[in-house]
Amino acid sequence: MAQADTLPETAAPAERGATETTAGPPAAQAGGILTVDLAALVENWRRLGRQATPAECAAVIKADGYGCGIAPVGTALARAGCKTFFVADLDEARRLRAVVPDHAIYVLNGLLPNTAPAFAAIKARPVIGSLVELAEWDAFCAGSGWQGGAALHVDTGMNRLGISPDEAAAVAPRIRTENHGITLLISHLVCAQEPPHPLNAKQIALFREVRMLYRGIPASLANSSGIFLGSAAHCDLVRPGAALYGVNPTPGRANPMQPVVTLQGHVALIRSVPKGGSVGYDAVWTARHASRIAVVAVGYGDGWPRALSASDQAPGADAIVAGTRCPLAGRISMDLLAIDISALPDKAVHRGDLVTLIGDGITVDAVANVAGTIGYEILTSLGRRYHRVYRNA
Ligand SMILES: *Cc1c(COP(=O)(O)O)cnc(C)c1O
Repeated sequence: MAQADTLPETAAPAERGATETTAGPPAAQAGGILTVDLAALVENWRRLGRQATPAECAAVIKADGYGCGIAPVGTALARAGCKTFFVADLDEARRLRAVVPDHAIYVLNGLLPNTAPAFAAIKARPVIGSLVELAEWDAFCAGSGWQGGAALHVDTGMNRLGISPDEAAAVAPRIRTENHGITLLISHLVCAQEPPHPLNAKQIALFREVRMLYRGIPASLANSSGIFLGSAAHCDLVRPGAALYGVNPTPGRANPMQPVVTLQGHVALIRSVPKGGSVGYDAVWTARHASRIAVVAVGYGDGWPRALSASDQAPGADAIVAGTRCPLAGRISMDLLAIDISALPDKAVHRGDLVTLIGDGITVDAVANVAGTIGYEILTSLGRRYHRVYRNA
C-alpha cells in the first residue's frame, strides 16, 4: 500500500500558519524522509496555467502523482481550482475519486476489456485509444444509458495509443451527430522537450486538421513541455505532469518551475576506512586516503537508483551533508548507501543526522542525469518506505 494513499489523521500547525500532514512510518524510524511541498506544486500549476492562458490547465497525476502521492496531490490541486485530472488506470482513478468527488477524471490507458461498468461506477472517463475500445464503450453506453463522458485519442505520430487521423475522419460524422458523449479530443506530443524537432510542427498541424472535424468538442495536445511550444500547441486544455512536480519542462534552459520534492536519508553510522580499503559490494570504490564514511539508510529498494553508485572510474551522485556537498562512495545497495565525508570537520556529522539526496540545490533533473535517465523515472521510483511529509497541505 502506498502510504500517501490515505491522508493522515493528524494535521499539526507549522510555521507561518501553514499546515503539515504526514504519512508512512514515524520519521525517527524511517530510513528516509520524503517531503512534498504542496504550495510549490500549486504554484507550478498556476504558473503553467498562466503560460497556457486562455486554455484550461488540467493536471496529470498518474503513477501515484509522479511518486508524490495521488491523494494529497489531487486534494491540493482541486482546492487550487484544477477541474480536470488525468491518471493512468482505474485503480488510480478510484483513489483520486475518493478525494475529489466532482472533478473530471480521465484514464489515459483507456478501456481494458469489460471494464466499462467500473468506469461508470466511479464516474471516470476512459481515453479511448482504438476503434475496438470505441465500439465497446458505445455498446456499454447504449445498453446502460451512461453519459459520463470519454476522451478520444487520435494518434498524430507517437504510434502508441490512439486511432489514426483517417479513422478519426471516418468516425467524426457519427460522433458529431449522435449524442456520443465524447467530451475531449486528445493527441500526445512525441518530442515536445525538443522545440526545434520537426515532429512538433507536424503533429500540431495534423491535430489542427483533425480538430476541424470535431468542432464543438474541446481538444488537448500539450504535456508539460508542449506548453512551452507556444499557443499553437495549447488548444482548449493543457495536460502537464512532470513540470508540476518540479521537473524542468525546458531542458537546456533555466527551469521555470519550483522544486517540490526533498529527499533526506538518516545516517545509520559513521566509520573510518583505511587508505586502500574498499566500500560496498564488488569493491569498486577504494579509499585514496584514510577516509570517513557516513552510511545512510536509503538504497535502491527505496528507488534510489543503483546507477548513482560511485566507483574509482566514475563518480556517482552527491549528497548534502552538514551543508556541504559530498560524493557517494561505492555501490548503492538495496537498503543503504555510503557517502565520503572525509572533507568535513571531525564532529560535523552524527549518527541519526539527516543528509539531503534531493533538495538544497540537488535537483531531480541533476540526479536523473547522473543515473542516465529522466526526472520522471526518479520521481515515479520514489520509495514506499519513506516517512512522508506534506508541507502546506
Ligand atoms: C504522461 C502524459 C502526460 C503528461 O506528460 P508530462 O510530460 O509529464 O507533462 C500528458 N499526456 C499524456 C497522454 C500522458 O501520457
